Amino acid sequence: MDKTRSDAASTNTRRGVSASPGLPRALPKVEARDRSAVAKAAIFKLRDVNVSYGGVTAVEDVTFDLLENEITAFIGPSGCGKSTLIRCLNRMNDLIPSAGVAGQVLYHDQDLYAANIDPVQVRKRIGMVFQKPNPFPKSIYENIAFGPRVLGMKGDMDEIVEKALRKGALWEEVKDRLKSNAFGMSGGQQQRLCIARTMAVEPDVILMDEPCSALDPISTGAIEELMLELKRNYSIVIVTHNMQQAARVSDRTAFFNVDKLEEGKRVGKLVEFAPTEKIFTKPDDIRTEEYVTGKFG
Ligand code: ADP
Repeated sequence: MDKTRSDAASTNTRRGVSASPGLPRALPKVEARDRSAVAKAAIFKLRDVNVSYGGVTAVEDVTFDLLENEITAFIGPSGCGKSTLIRCLNRMNDLIPSAGVAGQVLYHDQDLYAANIDPVQVRKRIGMVFQKPNPFPKSIYENIAFGPRVLGMKGDMDEIVEKALRKGALWEEVKDRLKSNAFGMSGGQQQRLCIARTMAVEPDVILMDEPCSALDPISTGAIEELMLELKRNYSIVIVTHNMQQAARVSDRTAFFNVDKLEEGKRVGKLVEFAPTEKIFTKPDDIRTEEYVTGKFG
């Protein structure tokens, strides 16, 4: 790691740190808006980010900027640190006691790991959708209403629920059965419900960790269409094993690989980060080319 950054890095080394509840919530206010017409700013800036588990480095030296109103895909072979890194973007790694994050993760130029940042507030702004749809064992309505209620959001709850379900492209399918249990929905509908649930608390960013890997091609298509619609107003980061999916939906792609060190140690590294078209047609690094053409993975 760059020694000139060692101060910042060491103050940012954490083991399950969370901000004290009484401290200010210092994240800048950001309205969801259509920013497609203006030059895109960086929503995240990562600087020399290293993540370890129990002191063993899982992914290291990640430096890049992710732009707002874009879909950024993280691709690479299993174990190269894609999920580890995406979890850094909303402090989800705080929930893993052995995880430590060093370096800087800036969100709208604010250090996400600064002592005065409330991780709950972070996860409201930067929502996450997981591999397996994980609705609550409650009604469709209650799945959506839960977050806004916990956060004490103001407004008519019926309207909040409808708005979120519309954003999740689900309203027309479920408007007549809002009181039915979410477990009665198909897998694809459950995943769109989880996206709608994330939208209900009005985030700025949606992180998706292999959101379609448990879905059939039709449901996958529906989620991809939804992502393309949502990026007009939100920024999206997706981890995917599906090369075609990365090529179809993302604007930029980060390719990670596993470096094999001495004594059998393995560490994830960012190999190349570029517009998706470049990654898939004329990447700079031979390892990227071999991966996207299916020579390993
Ligand atoms: P990917 O998403 O690219 O498959 P991961 O981020 O899941 O990679 O894993 C990167 C490395 O970190 C792997 O060596 C994995 O074993 C390790 N790892 C991931 N999660 C944990 C955890 N909770 N505890 C310990 N090691 C972990």
